Amino acid sequence: VSICQYCYSRFEGKSGQVYCNKDCSIQATKIKRKERQKLESIKQRMKTPRFCANGCGTKLSAYNDKRICTSCKVDKNKVSRAIESLKDLFEFEERL
Ligand SMILES: [Zn+2]
Ligand SMILES: [Zn+2]
Repeated sequence: VSICQYCYSRFEGKSGQVYCNKDCSIQATKIKRKERQKLESIKQRMKTPRFCANGCGTKLSAYNDKRICTSCKVDKNKVSRAIESLKDLFEFEERL
């Protein structure tokens, strides 16, 4: 008895078989391919330094999928939150 490496169900298979059926094998291959692509893009980013698209000059980490640095991301959230609260204020004034 073997255990499928994708769905973890037990199955009777030939020796060396790691997935219980074709579907599991296909899904597992897809995931592996995705992981490999991610790794490739990280490697690519390590070769060419990227800088924050926000123009703050921060060098982006190779592991960062985003185009802006974490501090800019946080600031952006703060800004949008501030805008939201301003909107509330205007709506409140309109109601008066
Ligand atoms: Zn399976
Ligand atoms: Zn930045």
